[in-house]
Amino acid sequence: MALQRMNRRRFFMGLAGLGITLPSFRKTGFPRSRQGSGINRPLVVTSNANRFVKEAVTSAAWEALLQGGSPLDAAIKATHVAEMDPRDPSVGYGGDPNEEGFLQLDAAVMNGPDYEAGAVAALENIKTPSSVARLVMERTDHLMLVGKGALKFARLHGFKEEDLLTDEARRHWLEWKESLSERDYYHPPRKRDDRDGGGTINVLVLDAAGDMAGVTSTVGHHFKLVGRVGDSPIIGAGLYVDNDVGAAGATGHGEESIKTCAGFLAVEKMREGMSPLEACRYVCRRVADRHRGKPMFNLKIVALNKRGAYGCCALRGRMDAATKKTVGSGFSVHDADGHRTETGEALLPPMTEEERNAIPWR
Ligand code: ASP
Repeated sequence: MALQRMNRRRFFMGLAGLGITLPSFRKTGFPRSRQGSGINRPLVVTSNANRFVKEAVTSAAWEALLQGGSPLDAAIKATHVAEMDPRDPSVGYGGDPNEEGFLQLDAAVMNGPDYEAGAVAALENIKTPSSVARLVMERTDHLMLVGKGALKFARLHGFKEEDLLTDEARRHWLEWKESLSERDYYHPPRKRDDRDGGGTINVLVLDAAGDMAGVTSTVGHHFKLVGRVGDSPIIGAGLYVDNDVGAAGATGHGEESIKTCAGFLAVEKMREGMSPLEACRYVCRRVADRHRGKPMFNLKIVALNKRGAYGCCALRGRMDAATKKTVGSGFSVHDADGHRTETGEALLPPMTEEERNAIPWR
């Protein structure tokens, strides 16, 4: 790695010595897209990583591209950051468990250039389910392995079984359990843990040549029923990549994303000519319409197209404390200008306290 960096530096110094200047390479290592060309490649877009890992996630993908990695290598490297960081309650190690207090992870990968995909669902004890999903794609003729079969397959390929439940996640689960009902033998929780949120991680990568890949990884709904599988490992729902058109990912209430084929629908709308933002908006609108304009959950779509345009829209936004207006939720981008968090659109205002109390824990 150090050697490659060295070579890169030497290459640029050599050019400078010859009096050759390149189109503003900046510290990010790739040339900035030429003004007006409408092409912004390479590009990394992630749904909504936890605040502790946001920048590390997109930077890991960027660094992998700089090292000559494929879009899939880059998306996997980025996903590992979230999967292995115990501070992210929604992904991998340290994530919130299911209703019985253990973790069952879902993940999917989709590779644009060869239109291949792999997935695992309800996988226990493995820190990096995205890598297992990749191996399902690369080493089998199947697309998805679940539960015990997925674990057996992972062990076969040398993955180590580990306890994924951290003390913090266990405490959070216990608080949830203690507050479920007043008619049980638990006293109310001593204190409410204010765990930082975040969602499923969804990483979409477009390289300089226009190839794409995507990865999704999640613990699923926090405190979900044992055996529940969400949209994240479902190709066409939580993730879809078409190398000719674009890529899209969904986070939020997976059941609705599955019913709408959210990822696939967004990509198809881009194929018909919509911009990534318009396509994300279209999917949200479709879901809202199916729920008479009042969905009692959230769903967020991120998308990018082959030219490097991107967008994000959520069904439900959040209230901006300063302006008291509804804004969309954040998503992260890394291009030749570096890492940044942008605010997506939202179709509807956040749910009221009353509405929240009327639905199960989410
Ligand atoms: N979409 C995920 C699922 O339904 C959860 C999330 O994104 O928060 O499993």
